[in-house]
Amino acid sequence: MPRSVHIIGAGISGLSAAVRLANASYQVHVHEATQQAGGRCRSYFDTATNLTIDNGNHLLLSGNHHALAYARSIGSEAGLIGPTRAQFPFVDLASGQRWQLDLGDSRLPLWVLDKRRRVPDTNLRDYIALAPLVWAQQSKRVDEAIRCEGTLYRRLVQPLLLAALNLDPPEGSAGLAGAIVRETLLAGGRACRPLIARDGLSAVLIEPAVKHVQNKGGSLRLGHELRGLAISGDRITALKFGGADTIVLAPDDAVVLAVPARPAASLLPGLKTPTKFRAIVNAHFRVTPPRDLPPILGVIGGLVEWLFAFPQRLSVTISDGERFVDQPREELAMAIWRDICKAAALAGELPPWQVVRERRATFEATPEQNALRTGPLTRWKNLFLAGDWTATGLPATIEGSIRSGDRSADCVMAMRQA
Ligand SMILES: Cc1cc2nc3c(=O)[nH]c(=O)nc-3n(C[C@H](O)[C@H](O)[C@H](O)COP(=O)(O)OP(=O)(O)OC[C@H]3O[C@@H](n4cnc5c(N)ncnc54)[C@H](O)[C@@H]3O)c2cc1C
Repeated sequence: MPRSVHIIGAGISGLSAAVRLANASYQVHVHEATQQAGGRCRSYFDTATNLTIDNGNHLLLSGNHHALAYARSIGSEAGLIGPTRAQFPFVDLASGQRWQLDLGDSRLPLWVLDKRRRVPDTNLRDYIALAPLVWAQQSKRVDEAIRCEGTLYRRLVQPLLLAALNLDPPEGSAGLAGAIVRETLLAGGRACRPLIARDGLSAVLIEPAVKHVQNKGGSLRLGHELRGLAISGDRITALKFGGADTIVLAPDDAVVLAVPARPAASLLPGLKTPTKFRAIVNAHFRVTPPRDLPPILGVIGGLVEWLFAFPQRLSVTISDGERFVDQPREELAMAIWRDICKAAALAGELPPWQVVRERRATFEATPEQNALRTGPLTRWKNLFLAGDWTATGLPATIEGSIRSGDRSADCVMAMRQA
């Protein structure tokens, strides 16, 4: 058994590896470059709204089994809040039409058989026509597998895949889209209950993990950026953090590199990683949500795609947000606020707001970029990879990150047999 495992990166993938290894009695040391754990999944105090907000609204589903097991193991599962049934209210801002998709709570997708529960103005044949996605080849685009038009596409497939792939679905990887359809729509309502960390991503998914690892004797060093690796033969022999700050590894120590694709590629020249990324825009408005507003509202026909109601704020997500990255912030906030007023039947001046644009929110989920993902193993026996960009079979999501973290931890544990 390795004496120590050094985990580079305290994002959700690094922390999930840390939790799993700490639970298995490994001595875990997490090294994080920034001053805060959480990576792309974190909360912070925002002075513009005077609220603690998340860097992005993150939606989990009840079928995200690795994510739920992770939350359970750090004691914060109860912090993932959602309705008891998988119901998704939608509004079309162009037509003003409102409807609710009711996936129920079955393990089978029986909702497609019920006209009152499926998307209005769709029929069973529309759903059957999605079948080619379920077994689509990895090399295909979504528009090579299904027809990207029609009512079902506009009202359900487009919003679902846009959120999951973070790009306009036709250009997306049909293989990744198929994984989403298999694990959500096809898995029945029981797998599709929406869950959000209502008290904040850090409070629910990050801080309890750090505490858990520390309680098991592990450590987290913030502001501790890995700058280089010393290599001898088929092993990593030392971690270089700059200047004289070097950690020499014992023969049975292991390293999990859980950093995003770009830093991973610069630390390990020649490593195959995705090279293109897509943005996500989130905007937050300090306002008390109307009482009848659901916690999550799907919005089509506007700028906004999903509207989240939190106790003191309304927050929106816009995926594939490249086109808004250079737009003046005030103008963007105003345009989003106009959409919110329509969607939530609100009126009034622009309240205190914040716009957060994550330029490299996710790797580009096209077939070409998906083909550049790498598994957890490297040519060095004691170095393993984790991260949402590694070959998880899923797009860049919390579930994918945690699967990758768990998998890298399993590889570390398998080292003793090697
Ligand atoms: C705005 C936004 C909205 C999103 N919405 C959703 C959603 O609704 N549902 C969902 O499931 N997913 C969502 N995601 C995706 C999800 O947040 C990511 O897939 C996940 O957080 C990635 O975790 P990670 O650990 O792989 O990478 P990261 O979170 O990027 O963590 C990597 C860590 O490594 C650190 N690091 C980098 N280089 C070094 C170094 N040299 N030394 C030490 N540390 C280093 C970084 O500082 C960082 O903390 C969203 C992402 C964004 C940005």
